[in-house]
Amino acid sequence: MQEWKVPLGDARVRDEDLSTLCDVYRSGWLSMGPRTQELESALEAYTGASHAIAVSSCSAGLHLACVAAGLGPGDRVVLPSNTFVATANAVASCGAEPVFAEIAGPSEPWLSADAVAEVIDERTRAIFAVCYGGHPGEIERLRELADDREMILLEDAAHGSGAWSGSSHVGTFGLAGALSFSSAKNIGVGEGGMVLTDDPGVAEQLERLRWHGISKSSWGRHRDAVSAYDVTELGFNYRLDDPRAALALARLHRLEAETRQRAEVENAYRHDLEQVDGIEPTAPAGPSQRSSHLMFTVTLENGIDRDRFRRCLAERGVQTSLHFLPLHRLSLYSRTELELPRTESYSARAVTLPLFPRMEEWQRELVVEAAAEAIASVQTRR
Ligand SMILES: *Cc1c(COP(=O)(O)O)cnc(C)c1O
Repeated sequence: MQEWKVPLGDARVRDEDLSTLCDVYRSGWLSMGPRTQELESALEAYTGASHAIAVSSCSAGLHLACVAAGLGPGDRVVLPSNTFVATANAVASCGAEPVFAEIAGPSEPWLSADAVAEVIDERTRAIFAVCYGGHPGEIERLRELADDREMILLEDAAHGSGAWSGSSHVGTFGLAGALSFSSAKNIGVGEGGMVLTDDPGVAEQLERLRWHGISKSSWGRHRDAVSAYDVTELGFNYRLDDPRAALALARLHRLEAETRQRAEVENAYRHDLEQVDGIEPTAPAGPSQRSSHLMFTVTLENGIDRDRFRRCLAERGVQTSLHFLPLHRLSLYSRTELELPRTESYSARAVTLPLFPRMEEWQRELVVEAAAEAIASVQTRR
């Protein structure tokens, strides 16, 4: 593995978290139990959602959200093409059809409410909003649209832990939304996720579906000494376990502080990059919004060779990434007739630069210097 001077992110676990983890392993309760309940309550308090249901991953949560929304064959769900494949897979797992819509603009890579309105037809049942890089995007307009057209709103809030629009946390705008605790996300523990909902019926259903459709959790049965259970619908094993819940809880307590650190790095990046031609940062969050600052993504001017740009940065020890490959160009979802020029242009020119809470000043300066150098060398060789 290459040793990066500036890695894309930093998922290392702190020593104090390791002792928390050891305590849980020593307690003898390793599966879903009291630490998971504690995490759920803490996330209800933090996000304002009436119910938070822990799951094994955000992808599992997205799947359960689609099941709880009653999506099935014949239904269409509108979502951005500029997202991770998990969003579309959740829809397709239920037999429903993902319909891809455009992003809001050349530097606004989140779902456009206007574009969604254009593709809604009589078979469209739901809109799937995606928090891109931590940006709430047009979530308020998407909610209005969903209300006006009597659609279900679902949220892929994998990037959204710590993101707000107005006084509402991302993931709480629709019927259900799912956060991710995968290692590259803001509350990274390896694998894990959390579904947020205000609907008590949905919450109860999700609790059953994450454990085979069984009506009471193992911990609940252990505690209440109930020996019988019934299964009335098809469920899965999508549970989180207590060690990872404890780690997520420790990370949740630092989320506000870390989001502020991320915001500072991003602001400094924006300031520094004003001096660099040919590179355009993604638009910042709106005045009444707060991003979770998961990713800092820039676009390169047309004609700048992105692969060469990324190689130049790698040579200086700077790791970069791409977000995302447009889903309508993947074999599974390819729709040859479909053209999404804004999405395609963005996806072809976007580069994600390193961003993490304790990023050092010299690291940011190295990224900016390497980016400026890369653009100069790529341009002279054009
Ligand atoms: C990471 C990610 C997911 C999946 O999250 P997991 O917790 O790994 O299942 C879903 N959507 C987006 C946009 C993501 O980036």
